[in-house]
Amino acid sequence: MSSSTDLFDRACQHIPGGVNSPVRAFKAVGGTPVFIDRSDGARVYDCEGKAYIDYVLSWGPMIMGHNHPAVREAVIKQSEKGLSFGAPTELEIQLADRICEIMPGMDLVRMVNSGTEATMSAIRLARGYTGRDTIVKFEGCYHGHSDSLLVKAGSGALTMGVPSSPGVPAALADHTMTLTYNDPEGVRAAFAEHGDSIACVIVEPVAGNMNCIPPEPGFLETLRECCDVSGAVLILDEVMTGFRFGLQGAQGFFGVEADLTTLGKVVGGGMPVGAFGGKREIMEQIAPLGPVYQAGTLSGNPIAMAAGLATLDIISADGFYEPLFANTTRLCEGLQEAADRAGVPFTTNHSGTMFGGFFTNASSMTNYAQVMACDTERFNRFFHLMLEAGVYLAPASYEAGFMSSAHTDADIDATVDAARGAFAAL
Ligand code: PMP
Repeated sequence: MSSSTDLFDRACQHIPGGVNSPVRAFKAVGGTPVFIDRSDGARVYDCEGKAYIDYVLSWGPMIMGHNHPAVREAVIKQSEKGLSFGAPTELEIQLADRICEIMPGMDLVRMVNSGTEATMSAIRLARGYTGRDTIVKFEGCYHGHSDSLLVKAGSGALTMGVPSSPGVPAALADHTMTLTYNDPEGVRAAFAEHGDSIACVIVEPVAGNMNCIPPEPGFLETLRECCDVSGAVLILDEVMTGFRFGLQGAQGFFGVEADLTTLGKVVGGGMPVGAFGGKREIMEQIAPLGPVYQAGTLSGNPIAMAAGLATLDIISADGFYEPLFANTTRLCEGLQEAADRAGVPFTTNHSGTMFGGFFTNASSMTNYAQVMACDTERFNRFFHLMLEAGVYLAPASYEAGFMSSAHTDADIDATVDAARGAFAAL
């Protein structure tokens, strides 16, 4: 049996940094990434068989826990018919119909293979539709790694210290305007000056790539209003929040409707899927209906569609979300109490099924500057103590945590127990 250290050494020989996505490398927290062998329910098991209660959940998709039998069976059944056809299938219609029935303002939807593709395509479409070039994003929000969006980005880009990546032409970055999250006045001022040239605003309706920062009342509404007045397209990037705040995503939860919505993660049930869609008038501009080009060899892959459909079936059951919301709250209360008892300055945020913990004296966390002022060294030590105790948190302090329906009360109690020990040891 190989250890994670052995596997990491081998991985580094032919894979840059030993990983296929940077945050997995444990660069921020130090040490060796845990190599996973298998997963089940709320747990992942490493290559040496050690179990961890998992709050990363493949960075969000596994809302029903890992390796759900219904999804697994759907994938096996579909794969018996073949892996990819590059031609339309009925499964694509079924998934598109479901998404359009569920999501507010979704008339047409196009499937892609990742969240990055979804957001990249949505901003191209918004630019094509409006004939304008400027896009507005928010500091600390991450929308995948396409050029225009890697400007003051969150998640791994932030963790690696390169929120604005080398390799993005200045000419492109110049068209990306970055504003402060939860600052409606800043948004109004930007629109007052540049409204005529703004093609779109893209935002995480709950930011999950600079830890977990929910929108303050009025923030999303201001974006909606400014877009309406100026004719810009409002893109709500629900790659992370989609199907995590109830079936209608953050849009249903907060009552603000997008012109275009991007989806990923949960919609593919763990397979590589993304989607973008929205108002008919805008979506009709996309090829083959319109002139804005977008395509994909494996898009709408039948196995991925089957996994997405099986997932939507289960999360559509009455009462699916309430226990997840309650458990997310209970976990955050438990973590807070554990920190308070140990006298460690710490606060939590949670919204829907997403949560975050911050090593800070601040009592509320609402924006990027506050997140950047947190004690990352303390987080790194906490992370390793929790890992040692069998709790798998995201290996960076700029990531949200996720709850699944497989997490039991006992799992949450065990997590809080582990946190008591970790806070005390800090
Ligand atoms: N948008 C958001 C809000 C995300 O959280 C992510 C990934 N975490 C993406 C886009 C990019 O998705 P992917 O990693 O599937 O390309």
